Amino acid sequence: MILLAIESSCDETSAAVMVNGELMSNVISTQLIHTQWGGVVPELASREHQKAIIPVVEEALHKANISKNQLNAIAFTRGPGLLGALLVGTSFAKSLALSLNIPLIEVNHMQAHVLAHFIEEPKPKFPFICLTVSGGHTQLVWVKSALEMEIIGETLDDAVGEAFDKTAKLIGLPYPGGPLIDKLAKEGNPLKFAFPMGEIQGLNYSFSGIKTSILYFLQRETKNNPNFIEENKADICASVQHTLIEILLKKAKRAMREMNCKQIAIAGGVSANSGLRNRLQEMGSKEDWDVFIPAFSYCTDNAGMIAMAGHFKGLAKEYCGQDVSPMPRMEI
Ligand code: ATP
Ligand code: MG
Ligand code: FE
Repeated sequence: MILLAIESSCDETSAAVMVNGELMSNVISTQLIHTQWGGVVPELASREHQKAIIPVVEEALHKANISKNQLNAIAFTRGPGLLGALLVGTSFAKSLALSLNIPLIEVNHMQAHVLAHFIEEPKPKFPFICLTVSGGHTQLVWVKSALEMEIIGETLDDAVGEAFDKTAKLIGLPYPGGPLIDKLAKEGNPLKFAFPMGEIQGLNYSFSGIKTSILYFLQRETKNNPNFIEENKADICASVQHTLIEILLKKAKRAMREMNCKQIAIAGGVSANSGLRNRLQEMGSKEDWDVFIPAFSYCTDNAGMIAMAGHFKGLAKEYCGQDVSPMPRMEI
């Protein structure tokens, strides 16, 4: 099966080609226009996708050395994501599939983040737990098979990626600030400042409280010392990152115990965070878990993961019709 996959849910336009489960190309065009606005502007995202989609698809086909006529199916992100952004990828996939007379495969973006683990070795065995941490989601997923997943815990308000990005904004870092916090945290003391962990029952998360407490903390400190942020940037980053990671892993550990599971994976943009990767490895060796951490290129949004999810659905002949439309709030 030769598959073309398209991702356009947020601010990455991406296309990938997969041949019998092997990824042949994965082209990602990240929209830089949003930096000046401090966050993703939906209408601008749609227009950027429209500009990028044809060159990105052509480059993916070229790199894989595959021509359009060789394609057997087209997979695309149906949701969740921004409606206008999803519409570009969905419409493109539908028209190309129609013109080539080949089937369409709709993919859930959050399932695809999890299935990114099957692009390369080592691959987890079903069932396993995946902690999916991204710009819009924070989920503990019980992964029964490639096609069957259940959310056993999730955030009740903000996603952890938002907590990273909003903290970055408060200390004057450009969008998206998550990777910059990661970088600065490497030179800081994670125990310098303490922030409340905010207890939520069961396996769910909440990140809106910590965001507010960081805001109040910075307001208080800068009142006493206007240069507080400049003088303590690395320590603030290290301390905030440390707190966010502890919150994430505390519930992950509980989920592992409750499900009696020995394999844990992380996925999504925040799984690129070096602190999280290190702490999870550490916890894994202590708890005797098999830990699966994706390559950096498969953490943030990319069509490679959409191709992987599309491949599994294609094997099961789970196609969709030309009447399909984007689903901004699509659930796993
Ligand atoms: P979703 O997948 O929930 O729809 P999204 O597609 O916008 O949201 P991703 O592209 O998966 O999210 O992830 C982007 C998020 O990951 C941003 O919040 C970004 O700051 C964060 N991120 C990326 N790298 C790092 C890092 N090294 N440390 C912390 N956060 C990071
Ligand atoms: Mg993005
Ligand atoms: Fe994503």
